[in-house]
Amino acid sequence: MKALVLQAPGQLIMKEVPKPVLGADELLIKTKAATICTSDLHDIEYNPFGIKLPMIMGHEGAGVVEAVGEGVTDFKTGDEVAAHPVIPCRVCESCKRGLEHLCDNMGHLGIDRGGAFAEYFTIRQDRARKKPASLSFAESTLMEPVCVCIEALERANMKDGNSILIIGDGPFGILMSRLCKVYKDAKVILLGRHPFRMERAGNAITINERTSDNPLAEVMKATDGKGVDSAVLCVGTNQALDLAVAALRPRGTLSVFSAIAGRPTIDMFKVHVKELNICGSCNDMNYLDRALEYLQDEELNLKEVITHQLPFDRFEEAFRLVSKGKDSALKVSLIFE
Ligand SMILES: [Zn+2]
Ligand SMILES: [Zn+2]
Repeated sequence: MKALVLQAPGQLIMKEVPKPVLGADELLIKTKAATICTSDLHDIEYNPFGIKLPMIMGHEGAGVVEAVGEGVTDFKTGDEVAAHPVIPCRVCESCKRGLEHLCDNMGHLGIDRGGAFAEYFTIRQDRARKKPASLSFAESTLMEPVCVCIEALERANMKDGNSILIIGDGPFGILMSRLCKVYKDAKVILLGRHPFRMERAGNAITINERTSDNPLAEVMKATDGKGVDSAVLCVGTNQALDLAVAALRPRGTLSVFSAIAGRPTIDMFKVHVKELNICGSCNDMNYLDRALEYLQDEELNLKEVITHQLPFDRFEEAFRLVSKGKDSALKVSLIFE
């Protein structure tokens, strides 16, 4: 089969590789769509997770079940499915504590096993869901991105009536802005840099960092001087962290969705006197079904974040769009025959 293989940092090539071997509780999926994640760009460029190369990349995939392992009970050949890339071991201390998404021996498509940028990939049956008929394969690949956005909002202690500051207008920031519609009377403020993207943020009040003299003052004004209840970092800069800490109201919660490289500085005095909660957000607590429900919700219209669909062969163009097309693209899907 054809697959996109990371040979060495910066070297993603298409090549012929053997089809994956099917495990007892796994599905062999003939890929129909696989979507590029911003984290793929980092993995390809710097390999921060120390992936053992060569590796088939890609973790947002969907397709048709071609074969099932002997232990599979919930799926059959021909089923149309979306896959979630995180494979918890279900026996470690974290899994036993109910934190499967923080598993100590976590498996992950495209990290410790072949991913979805290939004509076939395998997934354990509990990490697959049947694709709703109203979604295309490309749209259903958004299941996991939507899952992690739900987690980021939950970790930010998002509730009905809350105000929230989302910093970053990448695909995740835009998905989160739209998702906030599920919270009644939520006030959403999105800080970004790209009009093309911010226009797609649903009901959010948008602030362009490039043209605003004082983003903090604008956030305060939008909340009648109160500050926000919740904030999510969807960019990894110290500046964003400073803004979030300054914009949160007392007892507000910051969810750190994007990691900041190095050791950022933080105003601990503000954290102390405002009793702020700062917490990480990584993967998700099995929101697969909820994500598919939201993806089918016409009012949320999450699927609109897929701005481009390109055939698998044109992967170079697709990756270029994701890294350079910030004024014209959000999510880019690769489509298979
Ligand atoms: Zn992803
Ligand atoms: Zn585990």
